[in-house]
Amino acid sequence: MEPVEIERLLRKFKSAAKEMAGYPLNQLFNYSKLSQFYKYHINNLGDPFVGGFYYRINTHEIERKVISRFAKLFHAPKDDFWGYVTTGGTEGNFYGLYVARELFPDGVVFYSDQTHYSIPKSLKILRMKSVEVKSQPNGEIDYQKLEDALRNAKTPPILLANIGTTMKGAIDDVVKIKAILKRLGIEKYYIHCDAAFFGMILPFYKEAECSHYDFQAGIDSIAISGHKMIGTPYPCGVVLTKKSNLKSIGSQIEYTNSTDNTITGSRNGLSPLFLWHELRSSREENLLKKVKRSVKLAAYAVEAFKKKGIEAWRNPNSIIVIFPKPSEKTIRKWQLAVQGDIAHIITIPHVSKKIIDVIVSSVAKDLKRAKKGKNPPKGSLLP
Ligand SMILES: *Cc1c(COP(=O)(O)O)cnc(C)c1O
Repeated sequence: MEPVEIERLLRKFKSAAKEMAGYPLNQLFNYSKLSQFYKYHINNLGDPFVGGFYYRINTHEIERKVISRFAKLFHAPKDDFWGYVTTGGTEGNFYGLYVARELFPDGVVFYSDQTHYSIPKSLKILRMKSVEVKSQPNGEIDYQKLEDALRNAKTPPILLANIGTTMKGAIDDVVKIKAILKRLGIEKYYIHCDAAFFGMILPFYKEAECSHYDFQAGIDSIAISGHKMIGTPYPCGVVLTKKSNLKSIGSQIEYTNSTDNTITGSRNGLSPLFLWHELRSSREENLLKKVKRSVKLAAYAVEAFKKKGIEAWRNPNSIIVIFPKPSEKTIRKWQLAVQGDIAHIITIPHVSKKIIDVIVSSVAKDLKRAKKGKNPPKGSLLP
């Protein structure tokens, strides 16, 4: 690449990274120590829990540490968990559904209308039948409607629980879902959690009740994105499942001397290094601090909006702040996420109070102008 091209791109990213408040992609990190590893092709192909590969330039050892850390955080059974570092939340969701389908080939997937688009896409690829269930105004699945839908289930249901929906940061309560299954006398089922964003936040936040979506609550698998809260230079993630769920997945490959039970063959061996850099126990305090700061900043943002007379809100423990959709110009400037009449900001580590203040005053101006305009906004958008 020409030096001028490099310069131009770096300048563009430097300014854009400062003006990004709508997507869960933390820009504040420093992995410069790890650049020494760029000299090698690190490839984690195969099952990280199986040794004896012919290709030795891998970080399986570190990958196992990352997986074990998450297994512990989500209270997976000590002798019955398995997982690997993925390309991101999407692959984790796909994998969870794949495992479920192998266990229950005619199972029907139940998910709420707030579910991330990676789920319907995976269902299409996997050719799985599904039922979409309406959500409550706060973004959580409507449990009554779920119960009504499950009542007609003729095959083992596969439940998709959102642990932090993309737009509203709502959590589907696995304990409540289990109670419904029990009431209906359904004994065979599978629960997959999409914790792509919140999976790197809630376990580190003592106030958040992990027992409503961990393995002890009865989940079978969970997908987490690595790059969102922690922040990495490229996407990655983690998928965790009970080992006993894998009965019909994986085959022995002579060519690599390994077990093939991941989606891709070659896998990025740098990702476990980036994740472990932030997850190792000496950095725990730092993670806690980051999470606490983000939650505090979200509370601050809600208040700042309210002070300007704007109806803003967030779900409990969520760092996603929802408010009425502002002008296209404000959306573009701050790279905001929108859906229908609402927009949101996410108070991830690189977002500062100062940025919040600037966004709040831009939104206030936009909404004032809109009120006077031809199509004033309709009633309240509060849940
Ligand atoms: C980001 C996200 C995904 C997709 O994850 P990728 O890492 O972008 O593939 C899925 N579900 C939720 C709730 C997310 O926030």
